Amino acid sequence: MVKAEGVRKSYGQVEVLKGIDLEVRQGEVFCLIGPSGSGKSTFLRCINHLEKINGGFLSVDGELVGYRQKGDRLYELKDREVAVKRRDIGMVFQRFNLFPHMTALQNIIEAPVQVKGESRNEAKQRAMALLERVGLADKAANYPSQLSGGQQQRVAIARALAMKPKLMLFDEPTSALDPELVGDVLDVMRDLAREGMTMIVVTHEMGFAREVGDALVFMDGGVVVESGHPREVLTNPQHERTRAFLSKVL
Ligand code: ATP
Ligand code: MG
Repeated sequence: MVKAEGVRKSYGQVEVLKGIDLEVRQGEVFCLIGPSGSGKSTFLRCINHLEKINGGFLSVDGELVGYRQKGDRLYELKDREVAVKRRDIGMVFQRFNLFPHMTALQNIIEAPVQVKGESRNEAKQRAMALLERVGLADKAANYPSQLSGGQQQRVAIARALAMKPKLMLFDEPTSALDPELVGDVLDVMRDLAREGMTMIVVTHEMGFAREVGDALVFMDGGVVVESGHPREVLTNPQHERTRAFLSKVL
């Protein structure tokens, strides 16, 4: 579903991704860990067309990110084309970024109606079903300020799912939450995984990675240091850098 070969990304003179190679298979829960500044968010942003890569190849569902291939030549996608591609990828951030002036329900139906042109009724019905799914059917009329952080994050997940994405990206979705709210969000993600959603999850929740993850990658300094099955990497890390990192977070 996602394939990265030698992906490089620089900001000015500073190279943040220094040749990332990895592959995320359909239906897989792919966990990404690593110290602050190692390039995890940048990599997710590249997948989601929020950043342009400077080198290597990156594809989602067999299509190059940001480019169209015609014969041997690559053409940069226009903004309009990028917007269309981005619809297929859901993203949930660390900070809840719901629209503050809209209720939970309005937050969820906004994109399907405005971007995809779904009828308001149809979008509303699906939004209610999604709220049900994340355990918040009774909060449809609440504004973000009237929801806990965990509830806001579950609405953010429902909002992403409303676009029927083929891939979900999570960037530390629970790290801004009070500890007692983390579980509910992870439960929603666990259900999503069980239903077969392909997910890339940047997280410090090693329990989640071990239990739900199909693959785990440890990144440091813009490269993949180590990857494998989560249980393997977490219990038997091969690299000193991985061991040092894990000893701090486990
Ligand atoms: P964290 O765990 O703290 O979220 P991260 O692994 O997600 O870290 P990134 O946010 O990808 O790390 O950042 C990687 C590096 O790129 C950092 O050194 C950061 O300062 C730099 N960086 C990120 N975004 C930009 C930007 N827009 N302009 C310049 N430098 C940036
Ligand atoms: Mg980050």
